[in-house]
Amino acid sequence: MREAFFHGFTDAHAHLPKNPAEDDALSVPAEAKILLNATRAEDFPRIAALAEKFPENIVPAFGIHPWFAEEWSGNVKLLLRKYISDTPNATIGEVGLDRCRGNAVFQETAFCEQLEIAGEFSVPVSLHCVRAFGKLEEILRGFFVAKKLPPFLLHAYGGSAEQAKVFAKLGGVFSNPRRELPPECRIISESDAPLRSFSK
Ligand SMILES: [Zn+2]
Repeated sequence: MREAFFHGFTDAHAHLPKNPAEDDALSVPAEAKILLNATRAEDFPRIAALAEKFPENIVPAFGIHPWFAEEWSGNVKLLLRKYISDTPNATIGEVGLDRCRGNAVFQETAFCEQLEIAGEFSVPVSLHCVRAFGKLEEILRGFFVAKKLPPFLLHAYGGSAEQAKVFAKLGGVFSNPRRELPPECRIISESDAPLRSFSK
């Protein structure tokens, strides 16, 4: 039931247009269902506005990406909580760990605190993880044991097939994995691209 959230997406992982001036001209096809991820706090109002404009097509995700984990602060935490409680269908993303870019200590704090918020509001989470799958598993397991683990989507999964089975057991689904995954792993499609107008 929890992972049912991730059904029906035509693009399970997208981002805002590079240029905010493009937001107003954006159009989406009637059948589109897009999970639109933030990477920094400055994205939040744009994501909320697009989700409000296309309530049937855009599911908003608010969060601080691991590359920008140093921007996580008490104020950003308050802001995130506000967007999660005030925005219909809000989810959390894109959050996670990245051993190839950014500060591991800041990332772990930002990630765990954002997972806490997801657990508290019972909203799904979109995860980014690069070369930190052991740590990711440890953190998710901790939340699972505490019965606070929200439904999660691992985007562009690049870990091992064996570890994927563990994430699947914890209730995770995958979008565009970098390798073949065992049959018990549910896979959905994503673009990981900036939204563009679909009108032409
Ligand atoms: Zn992304």
